[in-house]
Amino acid sequence: MDFDFTPHEQAFRAEVRSFLKANLPPPKERGAGFLKNWLAKVRAKGWVGFSWPKEYGGGEGSLIEQAILKEEMALAAAPPLGTSFMGLAWVGPGIMRYGTDEQKRRFIPDILDSKVNWCTGYSEPNHGSDLAAIQTKADRIGDNYVVNGQKIWTTGAAWADWIILLARTQFDVERKHDGITCLLVPMHSPGIEVRPIENMAGDRNFAEVFFTDVSVPVANRLGEEGKGWAVTISALANERSSIGEVTQMFARLDALKELVRNSKRRGQPAGQDSSVRRRIAEFETKIAAMKYNGLRYLTKQLRGEPLSSETSVNKLHRASLEIDMADFAVELTGRAGLLSRGSEQAVAGGSWTKSALGWPSVVIGGGTPNIQRNIIAERILGLPKD
Ligand SMILES: Cc1cc2nc3c(=O)[nH]c(=O)nc-3n(C[C@H](O)[C@H](O)[C@H](O)COP(=O)(O)OP(=O)(O)OC[C@H]3O[C@@H](n4cnc5c(N)ncnc54)[C@H](O)[C@@H]3O)c2cc1C
Repeated sequence: MDFDFTPHEQAFRAEVRSFLKANLPPPKERGAGFLKNWLAKVRAKGWVGFSWPKEYGGGEGSLIEQAILKEEMALAAAPPLGTSFMGLAWVGPGIMRYGTDEQKRRFIPDILDSKVNWCTGYSEPNHGSDLAAIQTKADRIGDNYVVNGQKIWTTGAAWADWIILLARTQFDVERKHDGITCLLVPMHSPGIEVRPIENMAGDRNFAEVFFTDVSVPVANRLGEEGKGWAVTISALANERSSIGEVTQMFARLDALKELVRNSKRRGQPAGQDSSVRRRIAEFETKIAAMKYNGLRYLTKQLRGEPLSSETSVNKLHRASLEIDMADFAVELTGRAGLLSRGSEQAVAGGSWTKSALGWPSVVIGGGTPNIQRNIIAERILGLPKD
């Protein structure tokens, strides 16, 4: 096992660091127009869609350099490389793998240029964990599919331009995983109605989406008809890999250590309390384990193999780790931990409190912990199905 970087890779890391030094002012100094400028600069560097082919607007860089880029960006708490989060994390990779040349040319540049927002239409009112049982139907009529049904918990549906949609094109199938088709649908299509849902924190990030006789050209089908499950498995692996991303956890741990340095327990510096030090060591150890597990994914990708079930491991760990760290931070800050954004006394701008309350996004989004455990047990450890 060789963890060393080549001189070329080290030079690339130095290049990223000096770019960040020159172009990333501290958060308080980032005025209006900063994000637009930032996005244009990282795009010009070829860092958005870093490893995607130049032919479709990508940077055609190596996967190792892409990992270095992500690491340095996370450590510097830099803004994202694009605003099309789902586009970059799983819709784009799905199109790169299953799309036609025409689809790649049509969709990829807009994702890279942050011109479009995507949302993900998988879950239905009675089919979340049991996703392969979806009932939204797409009937083929000539050169179009006509879609009828309902999706729920669709994050970003209210402002998305496109939805990656799972619909059933065949009902008389032996396995429920068959007969599912993946469609790329404009959200402004006649017959789509979006009804936002308010979550327990008062945010309206997700929505119910209703489809009534929505016409979708066959040219917008991603992958083969009836074989959409394979597309979904690949997109979910990328989604879980992005949720399980470890790089941001190092920056989060640094922030937690800073909080410990500035906190007191029973009148003494909190860092002198052995139980506090033990918790920090525990978090650091788990993050290190996630990092090495993440390197396994990278090795697999370097061999040209697509990501699969193994991404469930870090997804599962990140969810529990993020919540444990946020709960610990809130506990450490005492009464101030009850305050959120907008309050002058809120600690770290209320970010720990927000994280402690925002657990459903890391725990449930992308599949619940039970589902990740089932995947790990059945597909990685080879245990019998439950
Ligand atoms: C913040 C957030 C964002 C989301 N964004 C999107 C999105 O953009 N697009 C989208 O399509 N969906 C989205 N979802 C939906 C999410 O994917 C589903 O909520 C999730 O897959 C669980 O499905 P469910 O809610 O129907 O729960 P259920 O499947 O009904 O599960 C209920 C409980 O039963 C357990 N359970 C179910 N089946 C099993 C089993 N076989 N073995 C053991 N335990 C089991 C589950 O673990 C869970 O605890 C989002 C959810 C959240 C919270």
